[in-house]
Amino acid sequence: MVILLIGPPGAGKGTQVDRLSQHYCLNKVGTGDILRQEVVKRSELGVKVEGYMKKGKLVPDDIIVDVVTRRMDWGSNCRGYLLDGFPRTKKQAQMLDHLLKERGKKIDLVFNIEVSEPELIRRISGRRVCPKCFRLYHIDYNKPRVDELCDYCRTPLIQREDDREEVVRKRLTLYREETKPLLQYYRRQSKLVDINGNGRAEEVFRQISAYIDSHLSYNSHSNKAELK
Ligand SMILES: [Zn+2]
Repeated sequence: MVILLIGPPGAGKGTQVDRLSQHYCLNKVGTGDILRQEVVKRSELGVKVEGYMKKGKLVPDDIIVDVVTRRMDWGSNCRGYLLDGFPRTKKQAQMLDHLLKERGKKIDLVFNIEVSEPELIRRISGRRVCPKCFRLYHIDYNKPRVDELCDYCRTPLIQREDDREEVVRKRLTLYREETKPLLQYYRRQSKLVDINGNGRAEEVFRQISAYIDSHLSYNSHSNKAELK
């Protein structure tokens, strides 16, 4: 089983990826982590990747797809893979489909976590960080005990540049432009499932797992039917 999660910054994708990978025994495959590991290992690929990063360039699609499929070739004791933050573009999606097909695999389900823009802005622009010990807070959901001061070291909290409302709006616009063709690609294949991500993490998990459960039971039924 190969599952893909798509969602804007602030959609709580990381939390869902962690919960789903534990609940269903799925290997998490996140390109960021894998690329960083390769750089640290100083592998042939890592050196290439580092070159792009140093120049401030995006790592090309073919390298990313190569890295991910190699990781999936290692096999696993788990039930499958959960892709996080990859593929990012339609081109990557097409390349990935091709490589999966060569291996007799395919993407089963793609979850698109949708959250309204005001809610995303509230979630992200409310974040605060302690510049000294890097603990994270939120002005609504995870308040420090004393206004705008770190609970541990009493340093005044700051808002990261990336979390400022104007910057968040720009990031969200960019995200929507980038993701639209990707969503269309999976919708045409009838693999896309829209998930309402405005509620609590628990509720989002319940929606996603209901789809996975019905997908799994449908597959086990159709396998039995084939055996007869
Ligand atoms: Zn602190």
